[in-house]
Amino acid sequence: MKGKILMHMGPSVGNYRVTLAGVTENVGFASPEFISVMRESLDGVGEVMGAGSDYMPFIIPGSGTAAMESTVTFLRKGDRVLVLSNGVFGDRWSRIFERYPVKVDYLNARAGETVLPEDARKLASVNKYRLTVMTHVETSTGVRAPVRELIQSVRASSEIVAVDGVASVGGENVSAEEWDADIVLTASQKAIGAPPGLGLLVVRKSLLGVAGNDRISSFFLDLNNWAPVMQGMLDMKGGYFATPPISTIFSLREAFRLAKEEGLLKRIERHASAAGEIRSGVQELGLGIVAKDGLRSNTVTGVKLDGIDAAEFVRRCADRGVEFATGVHPELKGRYFRIGHMGWVTEIDVTAALGVIKQVLHEMH
Ligand code: PMP
Repeated sequence: MKGKILMHMGPSVGNYRVTLAGVTENVGFASPEFISVMRESLDGVGEVMGAGSDYMPFIIPGSGTAAMESTVTFLRKGDRVLVLSNGVFGDRWSRIFERYPVKVDYLNARAGETVLPEDARKLASVNKYRLTVMTHVETSTGVRAPVRELIQSVRASSEIVAVDGVASVGGENVSAEEWDADIVLTASQKAIGAPPGLGLLVVRKSLLGVAGNDRISSFFLDLNNWAPVMQGMLDMKGGYFATPPISTIFSLREAFRLAKEEGLLKRIERHASAAGEIRSGVQELGLGIVAKDGLRSNTVTGVKLDGIDAAEFVRRCADRGVEFATGVHPELKGRYFRIGHMGWVTEIDVTAALGVIKQVLHEMH
């Protein structure tokens, strides 16, 4: 049945049990059946993000970007926000906040590198921030940022710290609590391995319910509208703010069940081992890796393709049955491609991917 191996940036390699779990008769959002699916899924969100009882888990319709934008819930007019960006998705934070009446300070790194904690510390020693945001795994380059150190470097000057774990949660060690992060967010379609359509977050409970009249967030993405629904689901009573994508949440619950069967640590090890095999495989073929050594993620690898048209390379790989992503970082655009090794990726997928890369390289040289 498998037509193509999807080693894109998410959705990535799928799982039939997860897909089929979403194929049900219509189920009401107030039904006991859905409430128990939500409750189990909310527990799953807390577990994969290493968040204990001080945090409220959220499952909201939308995607990773919706989860990012929902952090505006905690901003007021004139607030100062610090964006630490390692690439295109780090920049997305700035593009979001520029739509709102807040002041944005921005620190960025070159492609394949990370903003350094000492540079963040310098900026944070001059200014006080309402919110600092960063990206755990930068999908445009495959860089995994030293989140713990970055948070430590700004913690004393930033009231709130939010981490984008869209390309990491489920495939990397993530711990809101140990990191001392106030918000960690992700999307359903990446290393968690559910279909797209959901933004997932954990938020420190002390932030909730204190919005006041000077709030600037949109209506739909105001987490204070969603918090009572999440609490209602946790209490097995249910709740409504806007209609949830019910069948996608059935799939999400199945993904969390499978992750539990596998064991979260084993799942992270599987991602690390797939990443290691991918990296050594492409290096054996003479190709370079975009992320600097020591900053390479378990979930995404950017591969340099000097002298070869990357779009054509990716097209030819897809024709041979493995779908990769082209590179999107403006500094390297057209000169690299990206491999997503997350979700339900297996050794066979990795072997097939490396085989196809080798064939297409020969063809294009
Ligand atoms: N942040 C990161 C690190 C991402 O990889 C992505 C998606 N590629 C996003 C945010 C945006 O997520 P979505 O496409 O689900 O809105």
